[in-house]
Amino acid sequence: MKTPIFLFCTFFMISFIACSENYKMFDKPISSRVANYSIECNFDPVNKLIIGTEFITWTNKTNLPVKEMQFHLYMNAFSNENSTFLKELGESPKELRGSWGYCKINKLYLGENVDLTQNISFIQPDDDNKFDSTVVSLKLPDEIQPNESIELTIEFTTKLPPLIERSGYIGSFHMASQWFPKVGVYSDLGWNCHQYHSNSEFFADFGIYDVTIIIPDEFMVGATGILIDEVQMAGNRKRLHYYAEDVHDFAWGADSNFVEINDHSGKTEIRLLAQKEHTGEVVNRILHATKSSHQYFTKRYGQYPYPQITILDSPVFNAVMEYPTLFLTGNFDGYDNPPAPVEPQLVENLFMERLTMHEFGHQWFYGMCANNEFEEAWLDEGLTEYITAKAFEAEYGKIMQNDEFGKPLPVRDFRKQMYIENYTNLPILNYSWHYPTFSEYYVGSYVKPKLLFYTLDNYFGEAVMEEIIYLFFQRWQFNHPKTQDFVDIITEIAGEEIHTIIQQYLETSDFLDYKIESVYQNRVKVSRIGQQIFPVNIEFTFKGNKKISKQWKAEESEITYEFNKEPHLTRVCIDPEQMIEFELNTQNNCWNFDN
Ligand SMILES: [Zn+2]
Repeated sequence: MKTPIFLFCTFFMISFIACSENYKMFDKPISSRVANYSIECNFDPVNKLIIGTEFITWTNKTNLPVKEMQFHLYMNAFSNENSTFLKELGESPKELRGSWGYCKINKLYLGENVDLTQNISFIQPDDDNKFDSTVVSLKLPDEIQPNESIELTIEFTTKLPPLIERSGYIGSFHMASQWFPKVGVYSDLGWNCHQYHSNSEFFADFGIYDVTIIIPDEFMVGATGILIDEVQMAGNRKRLHYYAEDVHDFAWGADSNFVEINDHSGKTEIRLLAQKEHTGEVVNRILHATKSSHQYFTKRYGQYPYPQITILDSPVFNAVMEYPTLFLTGNFDGYDNPPAPVEPQLVENLFMERLTMHEFGHQWFYGMCANNEFEEAWLDEGLTEYITAKAFEAEYGKIMQNDEFGKPLPVRDFRKQMYIENYTNLPILNYSWHYPTFSEYYVGSYVKPKLLFYTLDNYFGEAVMEEIIYLFFQRWQFNHPKTQDFVDIITEIAGEEIHTIIQQYLETSDFLDYKIESVYQNRVKVSRIGQQIFPVNIEFTFKGNKKISKQWKAEESEITYEFNKEPHLTRVCIDPEQMIEFELNTQNNCWNFDN
């Protein structure tokens, strides 16, 4: 590959420097910058078309030569009813008929003019579904050696679909996410470039994005990075130039119904594009949740280093999502049918605040600590659920909140019932599309991990959990951490004894249930019903209210305690402080003399 790379290098370096010479986000790179994109595109909102050219500079940072490259064409998930995404969704929404979305590579060149368009072909690495065209393979004429770079030019056309999930349009709102041909992630294990699945999110390498969008004047646009230039053009159009360093994706949303609100939190600029009818209360609530969680996450886990966070106030819940330096939130309290509060005086519905904090929290876990969401979704979703609940409680108190079924609960208990009812689910460590249903994916990737983190928080203390998450973020920001990296940090801080317990919790669908088997005089038999273990306190209360506490590691399936020198037992309670958040049945945990 040496000759062509040398030839094209000069042109690309000149054009790239010209693009970004006036602006630099960071003094020196803070990520490995494997995949760098310069994209120029034109948006036609009438036909929902984005016609663009992208210049990719990709570096082989592995020890292996690369003979083939793989790219995501995510929008093809919406190109026909037999795509893997729509098959897994179980329906082909009727709005798509006649309005299919797609991402088409029109021309692909090595450098600027060695035409390799004939070298591309669709592949289906996950399921062999020949109707799925969300991944494309490019055969290279020469290998890319370790530490060599390749430059490609891709001319593409993307058609946005009606908004089903994350990307597309509804009314005047247009969300362009996963909209351009995007390189997969190459490692010493080969390409990691999964098809687009209905229960999966994303994975990509860090790099620089230099993107210009030509769009009609009436639209206000919010995008990854920052706007470094805006030029008025003929025909009531404008050319917007965005730039971002050390991010792994670029998304943008446009709406003629947006109004812009600017604020800041510390040195971070906040640019909120709100629906016109939402100015006032909704805007204030989103800004407040953003600022308070920014302070919470920054203080405990690490800095948000980008100069700006952009927030889009989405008109629909299905578009709500996180992207680097950009997220969507919105006012969906109670969804379409607001639940009736059971005890109105206790319940405040702050769904929008929780949603805002969750999506912003993803900047730390997904945005900067960029795990593979296809394969290990629990890492960013579980951590984000936990840190969101912590930040929420710190700001708004441990107040009761309506869950989406109208049931008032503390935030940390949200959807715990879902786990209890679905404990036979597949384990946490599971490819996201291997969960048969969305609710199983949700329990495995969000609820079950959150219950583990809260259990560790109860058992080791909040400070230990903060130390674990701080170290994980500091060690793995701008990198691709894996489950083992996180488990290693837990073990490093909380101790070796927790290692097997966590491994078991992640890898199996074993459940935890402790039970008082029998009490005879002062002899108590306690048993473990499930295979999952976690150290537990058992509290024995004697006549006269004397209490003795014992810790049981639960390594054996039952244990007997005898207290011959004590007065009569009046009460026995397993886990009286309810430290273990994932115990299936707590109804069999206590025995009282009265009973
Ligand atoms: Zn999330």
